Amino acid sequence: MSHHKGHHRDTDLLHIGSAAFDPATECAPVNTPSIRTSTVRFKSLQALDEVLAKRASGQPAITYGIAGLDTHRALEEVFMTLENGSYCVLSASGLASIHLVFMATLKSGDHVLISDNVYGPVRNLNETLLKKLNIEATFFSPAHDDLASLIRPNTRMLYLESPGSLLMEMLDLPSLAAQAKAHGLVVAVDNTWGTYLYEPLTLGADISIIAGTKYVSGHSDLLLGAVVAREDAIAKQIHQMQYAIGNSVSADDVWLALRGVKTLSVRLREHARHAKTVSQHLANHPKVSRIYDPAWSQDPGHELWQRDCRGANGLISVSLNCTPEQARDFVDRLTLFGIGFSWGGFESLVQWVNPSVLENHRYWTEHGKAVVRLHIGLEQPEDLIADLDQALSILPDPA
Ligand SMILES: *Cc1c(COP(=O)(O)O)cnc(C)c1O
Repeated sequence: MSHHKGHHRDTDLLHIGSAAFDPATECAPVNTPSIRTSTVRFKSLQALDEVLAKRASGQPAITYGIAGLDTHRALEEVFMTLENGSYCVLSASGLASIHLVFMATLKSGDHVLISDNVYGPVRNLNETLLKKLNIEATFFSPAHDDLASLIRPNTRMLYLESPGSLLMEMLDLPSLAAQAKAHGLVVAVDNTWGTYLYEPLTLGADISIIAGTKYVSGHSDLLLGAVVAREDAIAKQIHQMQYAIGNSVSADDVWLALRGVKTLSVRLREHARHAKTVSQHLANHPKVSRIYDPAWSQDPGHELWQRDCRGANGLISVSLNCTPEQARDFVDRLTLFGIGFSWGGFESLVQWVNPSVLENHRYWTEHGKAVVRLHIGLEQPEDLIADLDQALSILPDPA
């Protein structure tokens, strides 16, 4: 690989995964191809023994196709570069990466503290799996609760998301991580929002999780997750659990993600610019109550965002001066925004947020008001604004 560290990160991201030259022809394709294989062949039994010994010592080692070959290594290098980490494990989805972290870090009888703003399916993971394994979770509000008073003798992990799902609640990660570390906890952060923009490992976390499904892919055509760590002991636990549970990603999906990375910085800047233009319009609209986006100057998390983040993206939430029921008509009326979960692709999406979910987030204070989450895509912002305006026009005038 002809990749030299020390350039601007954008430059490095473009050159990771350059294919090696063929010694016979002295030429190479630009990109590492998708290397599809179910297994790998060894030149001799001795070569196999050496690889097995490496794996037994907890180091990443290829003994079978499950962890992939050069295509996978290149994407792992991308995530390590983005996250300022030393180890990376890929999974078949962002949620599979979250599952991997919980399984690698916790055992029966342990307790985990989880911020109440996390990606919704983490609660389902708790109900469906953690409870069954006798792992106890406490969902807490970083804005309201004193972390130290919630830590018990059997608490092992602090699991956070910053900015949080749905309301983009920005956390003071360095402070929370320092408190948790003082009690010997492992700190894991879902950094899907922060891909390219935020570095939990640099701010004190031990583990960063990224759903590559979102901005890394950028084209809504694959599912993929990554877990990035820095310390050998934590990386060893994650690798061992990964071997134990048999998580794997198709080389074709990895290849598509690598292709997405080439335009990641350019796409993010455009998403952020469009989101800001849309927010400026919506903030002045009488039917809009509030913009939830730490990059927005009036967001309560804006100072933390300025301190800890490198930029913004296209994900915002908006509360409307109407009931959640009334907002359903608004959502149905939009034409450029697809109704759907997920985000991070080139296209605009809208999610009608169920109020029962918001009640789980103690950061939420506008009870009774509707919230829609918008992913502002790469369509021209004037077109998006016109679409939002025509849909807002059917909502009742605020009293
Ligand atoms: C989408 C998302 C995930 C899960 O990713 P999948 O690949 O869809 O499983 C995890 N965390 C956050 C914050 C997400 O937005």
